[in-house]
Amino acid sequence: MLPFARVSIIGLGLIGSSIARAIKDHLPTVCVNGHDVDPDVRETARALGFCDDVTDTAGAAVTDADFVVLCVPVGAMAAVAAEIAPDLPPEAIVSDVGSSKGSVLAALQAALPHNAIVPAHPVAGTERSGPEAGFATLFHGRWCILTPPADAPLLAVERVAEFWRSLGADIETMDADHHDRVLAITSHLPHLIAYTIVGTASDMEEVTRSEVIKYSAGGFRDFTRIAASDPTMWRDVFLSNREAVLDMLQRFTEDLTSLQRAIRWGKGDELFDLFTRTRAIRRGIVEQGQDDEAPDFGRKHD
Ligand code: NAP
Repeated sequence: MLPFARVSIIGLGLIGSSIARAIKDHLPTVCVNGHDVDPDVRETARALGFCDDVTDTAGAAVTDADFVVLCVPVGAMAAVAAEIAPDLPPEAIVSDVGSSKGSVLAALQAALPHNAIVPAHPVAGTERSGPEAGFATLFHGRWCILTPPADAPLLAVERVAEFWRSLGADIETMDADHHDRVLAITSHLPHLIAYTIVGTASDMEEVTRSEVIKYSAGGFRDFTRIAASDPTMWRDVFLSNREAVLDMLQRFTEDLTSLQRAIRWGKGDELFDLFTRTRAIRRGIVEQGQDDEAPDFGRKHD
């Protein structure tokens, strides 16, 4: 049984276009309508053909939808929800793919009080953005975390879970606040650190820009990949998940200070113990299929 017959995707960038492509691959009889605020993106989406119809307004995309997925930056979710409200069928289930969940859930509930809301976060992505960056296999073997409110209808949650399973994802369910704390340490803080390191390197006067690029394989290159992520998306993530990010940042700063002390006082054992523990975490990630052991984490460089 198909979880949905008519899916509407608002925001046709990396994630929205990947969902549309994945539907075409895995659920080919499902009708996909799409909309993006940017006329150039709409034109590209029409040319690429991953939607059955790309509409000029968000309202037109949702009028006959039974499932609506908001794939816009977190800071735009409230405005998009308000925009579709007048045209949204009351029986349509609404979801989103935002990287932070507490503030998005509150915004969707406020704007769409009559619809079942089942927020989701596919923990999959790349540093690229836009409709050309998407691909159908993006969600294969990746987690999709659902954060339904306590009063969400069980059937709606199960249909959204089934939708994501159909696209190849594994499902986990947790409450929005817990999600935001877990992702603050596993995703948001690493991005903040990458943005900092790359920013610091580019400000340093005694290391030339050409040296930074030339010797980047020493470790810097992997940070630059993360630090190339979409500025709008990440600005919104930090502002919307402020409390959890600040809390994790505080802990991180304390741990960094104790490492600083270990280096200053020549405490090699302390450093060795930490690096041994962190190596085991890396092995665990590979063993669970969330990355591979190939050089450079199996990533292609262009
Ligand atoms: P993206 O490639 O930049 O796509 C977002 C698209 O939404 C853009 O085309 C943008 O147009 C459009 N948009 C912005 N405001 C809109 C509005 N009011 N109405 C309609 N369309 C609007 O970004 P993305 O990477 O797909 O991210 C989308 C969402 O997925 C974000 O909430 C992000 O947190 C989440 N997410 C991202 C990743 C990742 O790795 N990238 C992973 C998991 C979840 P403009 O460019 O003209 O603004």
